[in-house]
Amino acid sequence: MIDLRSDTLTKPTDEMRAAMARAEVGDDVYGEDPTVQRLEERVAGLFGHEAALFMPTGSMANVLAVASLVQPGQEVLCEASAHIARAELGAHGAFTGLTMRTWIHPRGQVDLPTIRSMFAPDMGPFFVRTAAIAVENTHNFAGGAVLPLQDLRDLREFATGVGAGIHLDGARIWNAHVATATPLAEYGAVADVLAVCLSKGLGAPVGSLMVGSSDAIAEARIRRKRMGGGMRQVGILAAAGLHALDHHVERLADDHDDARLLAEACGVDPATVETNIVVVPRHDAADFVASAREAGVLVSAVGPTAVRLVTHLDVTREDAEKAASVLASI
Ligand SMILES: *Cc1c(COP(=O)(O)O)cnc(C)c1O
Repeated sequence: MIDLRSDTLTKPTDEMRAAMARAEVGDDVYGEDPTVQRLEERVAGLFGHEAALFMPTGSMANVLAVASLVQPGQEVLCEASAHIARAELGAHGAFTGLTMRTWIHPRGQVDLPTIRSMFAPDMGPFFVRTAAIAVENTHNFAGGAVLPLQDLRDLREFATGVGAGIHLDGARIWNAHVATATPLAEYGAVADVLAVCLSKGLGAPVGSLMVGSSDAIAEARIRRKRMGGGMRQVGILAAAGLHALDHHVERLADDHDDARLLAEACGVDPATVETNIVVVPRHDAADFVASAREAGVLVSAVGPTAVRLVTHLDVTREDAEKAASVLASI
């Protein structure tokens, strides 16, 4: 089977497993895991921030990052199909007690005029106050779309002017970095806090980080423990992340090439595919998924009228070519 359902399906390589086996570890709740510390320092440095915190999932990193900006009873603005709004099962409302309002953009982009009009300043006991704006780069449900750096800079300028924070959900920020050659620190510079995943295209089995100021991370460390996310000899997992940063970032360009090949085979303009996700409009999505499965290719339906293909570390060029011919025939 060629599995194009998600880039979370990658399995650790033999080299990654060897790095995990060799990892020097300690109790991270005691602050004594040197491998976790190396990973946190390295990722903070990549984004030009003071500190970072290792988390079991990107969802937890998003929840704690947004909670560092938004108090209970305040709101965060985000795009309507953002992962934080659609795919985290209401965690931000359930745990943080915040509300969300959304703008709609078919490619998940920053719509500054709309954000400006939605923004609610502190009006005392009359209206919910907008404390933060969240963006997602690349945007998962918008087909791996990249948010242009200039749009993010304009948003930063607006947010700073009105005293709102910015959260960047960078589960796939690595893909945006490779696709556009934008330094990670440039993305870091537009956000107060970020969440980044090692467990997507980078191929680590587990692991995400929140990135931000020392104060925000110190507070998040307490919240993480409160949520049951204090982990012990977790350098075993951090070592997989360090290995991924060393060996699996630049190769994302291959995933992007493979995605364009698959797009073309499915009648999608490859110029619209910026990274490793292809959304194929199909009125018969469920049938398409079933036919592909019969022919040895796993893809997923996202709703009744769209199919999603995701390329990743465990899909070779040969697999992509084979999948392209199978999907073209369907
Ligand atoms: C995968 C993903 C996350 C985090 O997912 P977890 O499964 O909780 O690690 C967050 N944001 C986006 C955009 C994602 O694609």
